[in-house]
Amino acid sequence: MPRVRGLAASPEGAVHVSVSAPAALPALAARATAIGGSPVRDILAVTARPEVINFAGGLPAPELFDSAGIAEAYAAVFRDESARALQYATTEGEPALRTALAARTTVRGVPTGPDDLMVTTGSQQGLSLLATALIEPGDTVLVEEPCYLAALQAFAFAGARVVSVPGDGDGLDPAALDELVARERPKLLYVVPNFQNPSGRTLPTARRAAVAEIAVRRGLWIVEDDPYGELRFEGERVPWIAAHPGAADRTALLGSFSKVMAPGLRLGWLRAPAALLRACAVAKQAADLHTPTVNQLAAARYLADRDLDAHVARVAAAYGERRDAMLAGLPDALPRGSVWNRPEGGMFLWVRLPDGHDTTALLPEVVRHDVAYVPGAPFYAGTPDPATLRLCFVTQTPAEIAEGLRRLGTALAAHHPA
Ligand code: PMP
Repeated sequence: MPRVRGLAASPEGAVHVSVSAPAALPALAARATAIGGSPVRDILAVTARPEVINFAGGLPAPELFDSAGIAEAYAAVFRDESARALQYATTEGEPALRTALAARTTVRGVPTGPDDLMVTTGSQQGLSLLATALIEPGDTVLVEEPCYLAALQAFAFAGARVVSVPGDGDGLDPAALDELVARERPKLLYVVPNFQNPSGRTLPTARRAAVAEIAVRRGLWIVEDDPYGELRFEGERVPWIAAHPGAADRTALLGSFSKVMAPGLRLGWLRAPAALLRACAVAKQAADLHTPTVNQLAAARYLADRDLDAHVARVAAAYGERRDAMLAGLPDALPRGSVWNRPEGGMFLWVRLPDGHDTTALLPEVVRHDVAYVPGAPFYAGTPDPATLRLCFVTQTPAEIAEGLRRLGTALAAHHPA
């Protein structure tokens, strides 16, 4: 038997270990330290103070959750199928929910059966499963500029080389995409087609058709992430990229109940061609076995017994009023020469202050005035535009939005760019 140094029996018979100089632990994985905390996160931590009007978060308006309807759906599940709801289930998800999701996807232009999709723990899990299933370290991933931050993180964890596709107020530029695909030989393109996070932009039909055509012609996976598309309060719905000829068999289409039902349910889904879906299911087994059964059954019950689309229409109408409140207050709040967009749905709008402004440097002063935004810089995979920022217009009432913008105006007026 090996001798254990410092092991001694006390008079009571208990054994003590006296450790004088513990050896250093092995290091964390490089990816765990290379990717992570940002200084902006630390500044925004203080926005949890109740007096702060926080345009920085991406939180759906909590007073618009259908808590009564969701509570009834859970009650019905516990009344009628509690044993199933509390049991382990298959990795792909509950058949009742997958059937309902497939029907909703089909109606929206992409023919889908229950076996073509799986339920995920939020669409965020869909992103990390896809990264695991598709990306080898060093593979190139193309993203929009700017891009959803936690997608950048998921791709970075997989060891991807992330390259951004130039664009304009309508989203990515297909000609630039075509050139980059030819030059960089990327594995996939990640797109948020509707009311993008962070920019609020929507990719027009012609560009979607062009993206689909490039993916077919050059050989490319498309990850089409659409958590916001249902939240349209103006204009016409634009068909998914996956609905264009040839695109469905090379697109992973991600959906989520977070913005239309409630994010705390952690329910998303992933529609993908069979081989990719199988690979994602294996990756999901390693991640969490399956998404909570009770939440899946409650969502299926909600879809069966209620009218989700009517609920979403009410939420979208309220969000439209809130966008208008923000648009009304911005001209007085922002320095002359600032520009911003007017999204027809979703939760965010995108601002560019005049040259010389640095929204990261300005943020501590803005937060001192009890209001907050997110600087644009962290959303860029390439060179950031320091004058940009994201505003979320849905979490507060119109009156609170007006007050928040007054505070923002006061904070920014005190600043004179170099
Ligand atoms: N994709 C995008 C573009 C998002 O903005 C978000 C949430 N902010 C997600 C995915 C993840 O959403 P969830 O996991 O709640 O479905």
